[in-house]
Amino acid sequence: MSDSSKLSHLSALAPANIRAIAPYQGGKPISELAREMGLNEIDIVKLASNENPLGMSPKAQMALEEAIYEIARYPDGNSFALRDAVSQKYQVKPDQIVFGNGSNDILELAARAFLTAGDEVIYSQHAFAVYPLVTQAAGATGIIVPAVDFGHDLDGFSKAITPKTKLIFVANPNNPTGTLISKAVLKDFLQKVPKNIVVVLDEAYDEYLSVAYKSEAIKWLAEFENLIISRTFSKAYGLAGLRVGFGLMHTALADLMNRVRQPFNVNSLAQVAATVSLQDEDFVERSYAVNQAGMSQITQGLTKLGLSFIPSFGNFVSFKVTNASAVNQALLKQGVIVRPVANYEMPDYLRVSIGLFSENARFLEVLEQILKS
Ligand SMILES: *Cc1c(COP(=O)(O)O)cnc(C)c1O
Repeated sequence: MSDSSKLSHLSALAPANIRAIAPYQGGKPISELAREMGLNEIDIVKLASNENPLGMSPKAQMALEEAIYEIARYPDGNSFALRDAVSQKYQVKPDQIVFGNGSNDILELAARAFLTAGDEVIYSQHAFAVYPLVTQAAGATGIIVPAVDFGHDLDGFSKAITPKTKLIFVANPNNPTGTLISKAVLKDFLQKVPKNIVVVLDEAYDEYLSVAYKSEAIKWLAEFENLIISRTFSKAYGLAGLRVGFGLMHTALADLMNRVRQPFNVNSLAQVAATVSLQDEDFVERSYAVNQAGMSQITQGLTKLGLSFIPSFGNFVSFKVTNASAVNQALLKQGVIVRPVANYEMPDYLRVSIGLFSENARFLEVLEQILKS
């Protein structure tokens, strides 16, 4: 029996909500493209997963080299040192923090802790793909609010609330659109949400915001007991491969989330690197500066090529191009990996992550060649 016919036979073993899940499509790994196209890995530019082009904090790297000797030991299931660091940096109580295997884990823990079959979950059209995934896995129903100018329509969210609504996901900035909700609009929305609905505010890109735009939501936690703020070490901190993120919330919500958390969900290397990274403010500042410069470089380059794009507050930008799928294939052939976003209902767009100056230049150069040919 072939693997696929076995699959169709065995798929009946999973309930309908699991069978209906469309698997997450990540950025193509460099090694995979090298194999497919017969390219050398060093000739490939990957601008597909919003990773930090500077890598990680050099201080974190040194700490990791030491930590490797402890790998035979189980990690600290309470992430004591990291908890202390996060608690001090963000001025929250240690038991207001839940750690995750990436912030995706936080999103999933929220779904597992607060949802049951038949509940409704609200999120935006073009919002981060993990929201529908965790909703579906919990057997809940996703309610998609149409976007306005690619951004979240929070008035639309308010109108979509029903007695069945249990969870709301808000990405700010959102990926893959890069759109940002103003603090006033967001706070006004939170005031309108009934207290029996949990709001997960996903702030994966907050470190890329300028001072004026930075989130103040942590200060709002006292006022909104139903608010969960999710943060990650995968983006500006450059630790995507280690998988570590956290949620900040009322201690009672943290207690519930911790009940469904795997005891050792954050590995020991991740804990060490995240703790040190959090204190390396210089590295985050450099990452921010490289992103600002790269964003100008790429958006100016796109404009020069006559392409429109969605102004972005993240470390990526989605641009519009005729026949996006063919352009993506042509970029891949030349060793440039960007992200198609057709699965986000944006079939005419490609998303490019901001890289180093030379990587951005290579992307623009190859794109220009493709558009001219
Ligand atoms: C990248 C991203 C994350 C981070 O995921 P991790 O699991 O922490 O790597 C979370 N939310 C959004 C919107 C993202 O784009």
